[in-house]
Amino acid sequence: MPAKRKKTKLTKKEIEVYREKVLAERERIIMELGRIEETINDATSGQDGSKRSYSNHLADLGTDFMEKEKNFYYASQEGHYLRSLDDALKRMERGIYGKCEECEDLISFKRLDAVPGARLCIKCKSKAEKDMRGR
Ligand SMILES: [Zn+2]
Repeated sequence: MPAKRKKTKLTKKEIEVYREKVLAERERIIMELGRIEETINDATSGQDGSKRSYSNHLADLGTDFMEKEKNFYYASQEGHYLRSLDDALKRMERGIYGKCEECEDLISFKRLDAVPGARLCIKCKSKAEKDMRGR
């Protein structure tokens, strides 16, 4: 028997738990983004435009603006979150989910529970944030 080594990846069972979690979160975000789109469509469908100057504005600018608006929402925090969840699913398929991309330590369950799409352990994350502030 080889000596007991430090755990380097999550078990299949653990990954399954997080997959469920990520999928549920993903669904929630997609619903939310869908609702945002509906709001945009509502704002442009009423062409009398007397309610808010905002909808006039939106109608004038046309589809080009709509595209930008959509991109804006996808670039928003929710969009980022959605991408991080997609990414987490990909990492699960590759069997590297739950591993810090920086130091390759396991990310704590506590952190994964709070941020299922986390790519860095708490140590590397706070280091990265410090580096960003330093710039
Ligand atoms: Zn790390």
